[in-house]
Amino acid sequence: MSAIRIAAANVLVEGAFVPAELEIDGGRIAAVRRLGAAPLPGTTAAPADVVVPASTLVLPGNVDTHVHINEPGRTQWEGFASATTAAALGGTTTVVDMPLNSIPPTTTVENLHAKRDAAAGKLRVDTGFWGGIVPGNTASLRPLWEAGVFGFKCFLLDSGVPEFPPVDPAQLREAMREVASFGGLVIVHAEDARTIAAAPARASAAYTDFVLSRPDAAELAAIAGLIDAVRETGCRTHILHLSSARALETISAAKAEGLPLTVETCPHYLCFDAEAIPDGAPEFKCCPPIRDAGNRDALWQGLREGLIDCIVSDHSPSTAAEKYRGAPDLQQAWGGISGLQVGFAAVAHQARTRGIGLEAVSRWMSAAPAALAGLGAKGAIEAGRDADLVFYDPTLPHTVSADALAHRNPLSAYHGMEITGAVTGTMLRGRMLFGPDGGAPSAAGGDAGTKAGLAVTGGFLAGPGAVRAGGPGWALPRGAASASAGLASAGAGPGAGTAAGEGGA
Ligand SMILES: [Zn+2]
Repeated sequence: MSAIRIAAANVLVEGAFVPAELEIDGGRIAAVRRLGAAPLPGTTAAPADVVVPASTLVLPGNVDTHVHINEPGRTQWEGFASATTAAALGGTTTVVDMPLNSIPPTTTVENLHAKRDAAAGKLRVDTGFWGGIVPGNTASLRPLWEAGVFGFKCFLLDSGVPEFPPVDPAQLREAMREVASFGGLVIVHAEDARTIAAAPARASAAYTDFVLSRPDAAELAAIAGLIDAVRETGCRTHILHLSSARALETISAAKAEGLPLTVETCPHYLCFDAEAIPDGAPEFKCCPPIRDAGNRDALWQGLREGLIDCIVSDHSPSTAAEKYRGAPDLQQAWGGISGLQVGFAAVAHQARTRGIGLEAVSRWMSAAPAALAGLGAKGAIEAGRDADLVFYDPTLPHTVSADALAHRNPLSAYHGMEITGAVTGTMLRGRMLFGPDGGAPSAAGGDAGTKAGLAVTGGFLAGPGAVRAGGPGWALPRGAASASAGLASAGAGPGAGTAAGEGGA
């Protein structure tokens, strides 16, 4: 691919929007040149190949480190093709797949192979994998790390699927000591089983009744216990999908103590409040639950104060049959929200209404999750990084329609939401995945792409511990040579997280 140059009046460079020209070569950003106040054609030696409309902002591709793709095994719930298409259309160029809800779960190297095999030839964006911690698999953790997983997820209570059981405090510590021994990362669903067992869980269509069954106290207890384990083991640990802002005080103290702790929350906790959710609407059911409006405001404050590091989707779809199981009783419904495609635009809209700049949104949705996972080639528009870009017009109004989303199942908590600001194009490693003009980004049209026609340009990502690039951990059905070449430098620090296209479309 020969070099291309893109000029735009607003490119997010080093935390601020500036006029800039990007030179893109071999899928990477070769140079970032800041331009004068009147940047556009004619101000550089040669005109840029692409001049981005003045209304369009250029940001680094979002990095979503919390996606349940469910393939193989529950492919009717979601899949690599549909999920990565949804990601691309929503401005996300990197996803990291959760180890559970697929069958098998990613708890052994063999199971990781099964996932990679299932994903081959279907990826529209770059994709990595988390491993899983379940009772009895401690011996599999280091091999998984060396095979390229980004870290290890565990549950402290029932996960919702029988093949991914939770760990008890002793098992948690055993796993954390093992993961700490090789400098890995543990990511935790932090709700306390006993607190939830003691909470009222009556059959009800009212979301507020569902919230009572998953109280704040369950998150507080689990997080307090987890912080003790972090202190005891020294293991780098990440709290998944924080819902209860009441835990922020404990988190603040742990961070002040210098413990290696990071925290994420999700778009749905920042965009919705429990009182406003209609009865019998399982699209909003997730665990932990969406809480009250005051809690939502406090989560935004937690982001501003740096107590919460990232915003990621926790995209966890299911079929309508699972989502509406026992309807209208919410207790029986599958818990999980489909937010992969809508999350960025929804959060950006909410942030704007709160006077928070897109620079901060990008930090929370791109730079911070990239840093969390060790994706050194992602998360910023900077020379040497992958040319993963999002083209976003903050003025374009659109109304979310679940049917128009690329997710396999057209169920969305965001259905009907009116959002100002839309993704108008996405670039992955120098290739336009979509744009209103069939490639080049432009201001025309607010329809954020279509379901069909995205090229299979995504590659497999190797985690920071990968040492077996090209070895048995990387046996790919096709494109193996190029994938291995891209992954060979993965253990070397700055190159970690580099992908190679494996579709070659
Ligand atoms: Zn999840």
